[in-house]
Amino acid sequence: MSWKLKKKCLDLLAREDGCVRKIWGEVATICLAYPNAYRTGMSNLGFQAVYALINRHPGSLCERVFLPDSSDEAAHLASPARLFSLESQRPLADFDMVAFSLSFENDYPNVLKILDMAGIPLAAAERAERDPLVIGGGIAVTLNPEPLADFFDLFLIGEGEALLPDFLDAAAVALRCKLKRKAFLDRIQKEIHGAYVPRFYRVTTEQEGRITAREPLDSAYPRRIIRRTAPDINAFPTEQAITTEGSEFGGMFLTEVSRGCRRGCRFCAAGFVCRPVRFRSAVTLEASFRRGLKKRKTIGLLGTAVSDHPELIPLCRSILKRGGSVAVGSFRLDRLNRPMAALLKDTGVETLSLAPEAGSQRLRNVIRKGITEAEIFSAVDNLLEYDIVRLRLYFMVGLPTETDEDVDAIVRLVKAMEHRARHSSAGKKGFRSLTLSINQFIPKPATPFQWCPLEDTAVVKRRIRRIKDGLRGEKAVSVTHDLPKWNYIQALLTLGDRRVGKLLLAVHRFEGNWAQAFREVNVNPDFYVYRRKETDEILPWDFIDHGVEKTLLVSEYRKSFSGEILEETRP
Ligand code: SF4
Repeated sequence: MSWKLKKKCLDLLAREDGCVRKIWGEVATICLAYPNAYRTGMSNLGFQAVYALINRHPGSLCERVFLPDSSDEAAHLASPARLFSLESQRPLADFDMVAFSLSFENDYPNVLKILDMAGIPLAAAERAERDPLVIGGGIAVTLNPEPLADFFDLFLIGEGEALLPDFLDAAAVALRCKLKRKAFLDRIQKEIHGAYVPRFYRVTTEQEGRITAREPLDSAYPRRIIRRTAPDINAFPTEQAITTEGSEFGGMFLTEVSRGCRRGCRFCAAGFVCRPVRFRSAVTLEASFRRGLKKRKTIGLLGTAVSDHPELIPLCRSILKRGGSVAVGSFRLDRLNRPMAALLKDTGVETLSLAPEAGSQRLRNVIRKGITEAEIFSAVDNLLEYDIVRLRLYFMVGLPTETDEDVDAIVRLVKAMEHRARHSSAGKKGFRSLTLSINQFIPKPATPFQWCPLEDTAVVKRRIRRIKDGLRGEKAVSVTHDLPKWNYIQALLTLGDRRVGKLLLAVHRFEGNWAQAFREVNVNPDFYVYRRKETDEILPWDFIDHGVEKTLLVSEYRKSFSGEILEETRP
């Protein structure tokens, strides 16, 4: 192995606090892979939580691997070990399992890159007895694992805390009994709820590509895969296992305060798939804060609905009382009352992220955002009163039923916020900066908008330009946006079925060139991305029981287009 690569590992390890080193022996060895850079992976609380969970299990050992820097690829390929784990620098091929943590669909091509660099056959069907089992988990594959079906031996669908202990127990037994690969997968598919072995299911399609049937190859395999959920999140902490300055949030200690969200915004997977909403108790959070403050001065509060936590203010005050500070990702606008704004000022927050999502009330009703213009202005007044004068505002374009008038409403709303700031008695200073972050709406599985098409890339580009033009000349306002081209790819990987795997394979072969892959492979990506699906169609992810009734999704889908005025959605 190159000394340069080894030194890089040792330098990263030297900066970490919390890394676990277990002895190789009679334990199941798992290399936890993050299909992106070390800096990004180490900022992902889910990845860190799984690392801690596996290492807590007495019959298992977990090490990590990340996507290597492109400048190091040649050195990896020249090394006999090729790709190796961070902790012990062992080749990935030496592990019993390589487990990918998958949060973002656009990372899928990196999965193939990691497997290839590690010398592990890409297709699950081509792996031999000696090859590691390749396992996938995380929110992206919990929503829809099918585009990756050909490359994975097994998916674990749902929350790691609920699933992993059962799976690791079974893996420890399999190891002791020297169970063969196929027999192990067979047992897991039959016995562990939430496990999904794609090759044990046959999917048939009609000529145009719609799915006609999905059958288990053995009647003992479940027809539907149940997403596993941890009923009591107070039974375990979900907090940063390893702190390091080398991560994106290196200066803070991350801890999860809640899971799920009861608001039910129609575009949001977390609002449907992560149900039910669960808040960690003050007692368990206080214990986590105590551990965190020994390592970092700032506690980063994470969760799908942090600002809905019923004890958020006393919890933050308690961190301040202990001499720490607090960071919160984004706030619901309707939670920004005066006491909350006062608290934010005391925590030293200078920039706050808010998500109106849409400019017009009509469109906010369509997406069930549950926020009125009066509430937006009231939040602005409260923030200005407490001198919070930098905002990041999240808006979406390409939402169902959106027109140019809705897009103009974003411009009008932002100008009105600015105007209000300049003229309000509380906000003598006005806003120093308003940064608009424009994201394209991407339909997500298991949400009421799962049947919607992605908006055309040209329309989205035009609408982004319209917003930029409308706000030109507003000195305090800047606009950032993602690239519509990558949104198309993300939609394809989010909404696709097994045939999309052929495109992924081609993209890997063509070193990331999607245009060439689209030309070479006889799969029409627009079929998945730009087509409005019928509500009685079998969707690629329908075999997963996400815990949401289809009748609810259909009813919400239809209501969204009915122009119905929103009922109360506050907790
Ligand atoms: S409030 Fe946020 S987390 Fe909750 S459903 Fe709406 S978008 Fe999702």
